[in-house]
Amino acid sequence: RNLKKYFPVKGGVLQRTIGHVKAVDDVSFDLYEGETLGIVGESGSGKSTLGRTLLRLLDPTDGQIIFQGNDISKLSNRKMRPIRKDMQMVFQDPFASLNPRMSVGEIIEEPMLVQRTLTRKERKDKVIDLLEKVGLSPEARTKYPHEFSGGQRQRIGIARALTMNPKFIIGDEPVSALDVSVQSQVLNLMEDLQDDFNLTYLFIAHDLGVVKHISDRVGVMYLGKLAEIGPKHKIYDNPLHPYTQALLSSVPVPDVERKREKIKLQGELPSPSNPPKGCVFHTRCPEAHERCRVEIPELIHQGEEQYVACHLYTSESDI
Ligand code: SF4
Ligand code: MG
Repeated sequence: RNLKKYFPVKGGVLQRTIGHVKAVDDVSFDLYEGETLGIVGESGSGKSTLGRTLLRLLDPTDGQIIFQGNDISKLSNRKMRPIRKDMQMVFQDPFASLNPRMSVGEIIEEPMLVQRTLTRKERKDKVIDLLEKVGLSPEARTKYPHEFSGGQRQRIGIARALTMNPKFIIGDEPVSALDVSVQSQVLNLMEDLQDDFNLTYLFIAHDLGVVKHISDRVGVMYLGKLAEIGPKHKIYDNPLHPYTQALLSSVPVPDVERKREKIKLQGELPSPSNPPKGCVFHTRCPEAHERCRVEIPELIHQGEEQYVACHLYTSESDI
C-alpha cells in the first residue's frame, strides 16, 4: 500500500544528500494467494527494488507491506526471522547467487541448518527430494555450481528457495540470463512447482513476452510507478496505458491477424533521480497532452480487475 523506496543521491565536495532516486514511488497492488503476478518494466523502472523491498531485503521509505494479514513493513530483523522462511527469492544470475565453494548439497541444506529442526538424515533426504523435484539427479549433491549449465544452476537456485517450504516466491528475472531454448523449461518447472508446493509468485521480467504464459495478472512499471495492472487477457488483448501499448507492440506475435503496428517511443528513459513532473511518462508518450505535464495520474479502476494510471481515462471532474 503506497509503497515507496527512495535512495539518496550524494553530491558536492561534502557528499551531502542532494536529491533522491524514487526507485519505487507510491505503488499499491494486491497479490492473491496462489496466483502469479508478472511485473514488467525496463531496467530502471524499479521492479527489482520493488521485489527486494517486498521481502524486506531493503527497508521501505514509506508505505505498507501486508503479508498474510500482518504489516511487515517496519518489523525488526528479529521479528522478521520467522516470516522470512515463507518468502524467498530466485535471482537472475544463478551463478552469482550460488556460493562457488559450497557443494550443491550444502547450498540446498544451508537454510535448514539455520532452523535446526531436522536431523542430518532428514536434511539429506530432503536435499535429494528437492533435487528430484527440480529435475536433477541425487548425485548432483556432491558437485559444485561450476559443473552445471546455466539452466541447471537455476534449478539449484530454485531448489534452495524451496528448502524451507515457502509460501511466496519472487523470481527476479529468473530466466533472463538463460538461453531462449532453456527459458521455457525453467518456466514450465516453476509452474509445476507452484502447484506442488502451493506457491504464490511475483515474477519480474523486462518484457511482456516472458511473463505471458506464466502470469495470471500482469503489472507494468515505468520510472517507479505502476502504470497499469490487470488480468492477463486484459493486459495483452486490451491494454489501456500508452506505455503498455508500446511495450506490447514490440512483443513478436506469431499470429499474423493480430499483428500490431509497432509503436516507437520518443526519446530515452529519463533519469530516475530527475523524473518528469506530472505523468512520469509524458516525455515519451504519443498521447501526452497539457494536463499530463502538471498532474500525476492516479491508478483508477477500469472494469473487471484492470487499473490504469493515465489521464486519458480520467475526466477533469475526477480531481
Ligand atoms: Fe500519456 Fe498523459 Fe496518459 Fe501519461 S497521463 S500516459 S502522458 S496520456
Ligand atoms: Mg499459474
